[in-house]
Amino acid sequence: MLDYIESLQVLAERFARLQGVGKKSAMRMAFSVLELDYESAAAFAEAIVNAKKNIHKCPVCSNLTDKDVCYVCSDLSRDTSVICVVEDVKALMSIEKVREYKGVYHVLHGVISPLNNVGPDQLKINELLMRVKKGEIKEIIMATNPTVEGEATASYISRLVKPMGIKVTRLA
Ligand code: ZN
Repeated sequence: MLDYIESLQVLAERFARLQGVGKKSAMRMAFSVLELDYESAAAFAEAIVNAKKNIHKCPVCSNLTDKDVCYVCSDLSRDTSVICVVEDVKALMSIEKVREYKGVYHVLHGVISPLNNVGPDQLKINELLMRVKKGEIKEIIMATNPTVEGEATASYISRLVKPMGIKVTRLA
């Protein structure tokens, strides 16, 4: 048992708090950190702190950025009349990878999920409605994941924006 090495336990517990990291992987990661030389370990810790300090949600679309507004919103060649609604930044990144989409985004940061106590108010839906109310938007592409929650979230938003004269399409 390694329980008596307190710093190692504390480190492993920190890793275990990360999403998708189980106790065994957390301990493996803690050991990996110990194998780093002091400089690399310090750089690792600093990278975590810097990421937290510098990265925030874009005030326009809620994409993550370390600038005032994200790179999509600050790109003047993008069509701001089309908004693609995604669940998270990972989904945005995978659409960007294809390099075909020329509109802008809106990141919800989750989906409506009554089982997990996530309602519309916890998502960036009001922010989306504010953007629509400004009048520049003609089309919304719903690109939430094809899960039950993703579909429910897409239809919830559709019901809100369609009466505002917005064309709503669903990305398969
Ligand atoms: Zn943005």
